[in-house]
Amino acid sequence: MTPTTRIFVAGGDTLPGAALLDLLPAEEFGSLVGVGPDEPDLTDALAVNSFFAAERPEVVFLVGGPSGGIGLNRARPADLMLANLQVATNVLDAAHRYGVRKLLYLASSCAYPREAPQPLSPRSLGTGPLEPTSAPYATAKLAGAVLCDAYRRQYGSNFITAFPANPFGPGDDFGADSGHVIPALIRRAHEAAKHGDSVLSVWGSGTPRREFLFSRDLASACLFALENYDGDAPLNLGGGTVLSIAEAARVVADVVGFRGRLAFDTSKPDGAPLKALDSSVLRGLGWAPATTFRDAVEETYHWFLHHVTEGVCRERTTV
Ligand code: GDP
Repeated sequence: MTPTTRIFVAGGDTLPGAALLDLLPAEEFGSLVGVGPDEPDLTDALAVNSFFAAERPEVVFLVGGPSGGIGLNRARPADLMLANLQVATNVLDAAHRYGVRKLLYLASSCAYPREAPQPLSPRSLGTGPLEPTSAPYATAKLAGAVLCDAYRRQYGSNFITAFPANPFGPGDDFGADSGHVIPALIRRAHEAAKHGDSVLSVWGSGTPRREFLFSRDLASACLFALENYDGDAPLNLGGGTVLSIAEAARVVADVVGFRGRLAFDTSKPDGAPLKALDSSVLRGLGWAPATTFRDAVEETYHWFLHHVTEGVCRERTTV
């Protein structure tokens, strides 16, 4: 890519999309198309087609489609699956027809089989049943990955697929019920500290483990992969920190200044017991995350304090 390459971040309103829109100009890739109000509705095939016909992007980061935490996956499985299928089919079809030179499709680690050997390797994709709480969303993400592969095989398209670790960061969905674990806990710990509560409720048993990745590091991994990887096999984007939910909640509580105790609400689902990625291919190419988990939580909390509690801008809408 050069500074004049026409780049489209499909899904600029998502967490990784917003991080990419910050990162790309900072890395001198300033010829962005379809930013903000200029981005078409990715679930609308005609709008996507017209956009590609007019703007002719050369490189696409396909990071769009709604996502949410375990709460949203249970409440709105059909909305999540449908929108993610539409986004993948509309954008991949248009990218193919309008000759996009390189495309990175961001899938989700939910698309790995629930019982696959850990750390998760792309070889395990499609080898077993998915975690039921997120299966509709994950099936849509898997379909997008398979469609990328199909375009590669049939047309030789340079479409690569990447599976990220659990991202969080500024601009996240801080909804207590809809958000992923880190932003949801930031909000709950903040409220608990503000009200002087002695107990912070954490969903599930606290024992599941997740690999967390700061959204700015995820954007950097996406850019690195787009520039350095052309393989058929999907690429895992990880190398972040693997923590139990209880450990992660303690860091959040500490950063937010909540001094009470954690209470694990086992009426809420645990989801998959462990999701850690084998990111040896990416690491072997020379990429590593730059931000520690604690620093990432601090930066995310500061964003929350400034933008959500002070109402500087609206929170991200998920579906
Ligand atoms: P997942 O990786 O798709 O399961 O993503 P989530 O971020 O939704 O959940 C990760 C884990 O965090 C699960 O074991 C949840 O039970 C646990 N968890 C603890 N508190 C919360 C919370 O407030 N919100 C969410 N979403 N998960 C929580």
